[in-house]
Amino acid sequence: MSSPQKDIYLIIGGSGFLGRHIVEKLLARGDVVSTFDIVQRYHDVPFYSGDISEENQVSQAVQKSAATCIIHTASPPHGIDDPALYWKVNVDGTQAVINAAVANGVHKLVFTSSAGVVFNGEDLVNTDERLPPPEKSMDAYNESKAKGEELVLAANGKGGLLTVALRPSGIFGPGDRQVMHGLSQVFERNQTNFQIGDNNNLFDWTYVTNVAHAHLLAADRLVPLKHLSEQETSQIINYYLPTVSLTTGSRRQPTSEARPLGPYVVPPPHAEEIEARFNNPDPQAQYTSISYPPPVVRSRFDPLSDAVIARHRALAAINSKEKEAEGPIPTDPLQVAGQVFFITNGEPTYFWDFPRAVWRSLRVSSPSAPSERRRITFPREVGLVLAYAAEWWGWLVGKEPAFTRFRVTFSCVHRWHNIEKARRVLGYEPEVGLEEGVKRMVDWWKAEHGMKP
Ligand code: NAD
Repeated sequence: MSSPQKDIYLIIGGSGFLGRHIVEKLLARGDVVSTFDIVQRYHDVPFYSGDISEENQVSQAVQKSAATCIIHTASPPHGIDDPALYWKVNVDGTQAVINAAVANGVHKLVFTSSAGVVFNGEDLVNTDERLPPPEKSMDAYNESKAKGEELVLAANGKGGLLTVALRPSGIFGPGDRQVMHGLSQVFERNQTNFQIGDNNNLFDWTYVTNVAHAHLLAADRLVPLKHLSEQETSQIINYYLPTVSLTTGSRRQPTSEARPLGPYVVPPPHAEEIEARFNNPDPQAQYTSISYPPPVVRSRFDPLSDAVIARHRALAAINSKEKEAEGPIPTDPLQVAGQVFFITNGEPTYFWDFPRAVWRSLRVSSPSAPSERRRITFPREVGLVLAYAAEWWGWLVGKEPAFTRFRVTFSCVHRWHNIEKARRVLGYEPEVGLEEGVKRMVDWWKAEHGMKP
């Protein structure tokens, strides 16, 4: 399913964290790559300086680079109190990228969306791509990402341009400029003992090179729609999909209470049983504890069931008849063009286990750091009140608060996604597991900051 001719790539936001990893992956496989960004941080590939909200600047870069495939990763970072900037870059800027792509005969546009586009503050459990973005987004960032995604998908087929949107969740890894910075600040302030919520909520983190890998797969498989025979359809949806087992081990289910990254915060009354079950999984064994929630039996085929696919294809056929010639072209959930894909590590983990793994590793390299203090856990409601006060205080003194209601909500809900569609249709498998990814990120951070390994 890969395109017959090699593409020439323009990475928009190529100086950024994810953008740079995409550039490195493309270079490693011998592709021709240029970058477009408002700042230049690297000098090994042609760089075009510009702002995506200026269509002519994007257009010039497309022409000079001779790009046939644009990968658009640019966005202001999450957490800025400037809704107008998000709209300018993520909506108007994305429209400008689409216009420049169509005007210059670009074949492919891969857009980095975000898993946050479907988040409204409530639990997301094994969420797949059928869930639409909420009517009211969590904040201006997510709202603008959702709108940008909508524009990109609506542009699929325009002037020969094919488009796809990827929704990564919680990107982390070497080069990161948000997650590691925030966690190391908490460590330096010796505030690692505070916890909001009970840490029984699962969260999806995604190692950065896995996200980059997904972008390359999406670009490679972004080809014009073709008719899939019954046999071809079956080949995509009916082969055995092994458990993602890079870190968690093949028998660990994301919904199990076993904790791959950290020890229990407060051991539940049936901790021993859980551990025994985890260490020696036996589907036939009888477990006595009634308080233990049984593992969720997930129908991995739900999002791609025959019924769902048939309904999607029937709707697409009706749409294509009703729409004008320049309207959206039909899409197929088993082909890449015009589709969205969640991209995660496939290893949802208990929210606070991830920062604790980072802090543990930082502590090992910081002999002078004060010893860990007794853990203090705030219920979510208390956290929300404190965050409200912090936001109010920040507004009063004109400083952006570090502790916000968004962060409290974020740390207390389940937020994990189903990546079956990405695995089957893009052929995506996470290459680096969570535990290894955390190690690589912290090792990079230590090297950058002159800490001993
Ligand atoms: P980043 O800030 O490291 O990179 C973004 C790059 O875009 C930066 O180099 C920045 O200079 C550039 N940029 C910003 N505004 C621009 C403009 N107007 N014109 C041209 N370039 C501009 O961010 P990142 O973490 O690498 O995120 C990459 C993408 O992934 C973003 O679209 C983001 O919304 C999305 N995403 C990130 C995460 C995450 O956890 N980091 C999660 C989900 C989705």
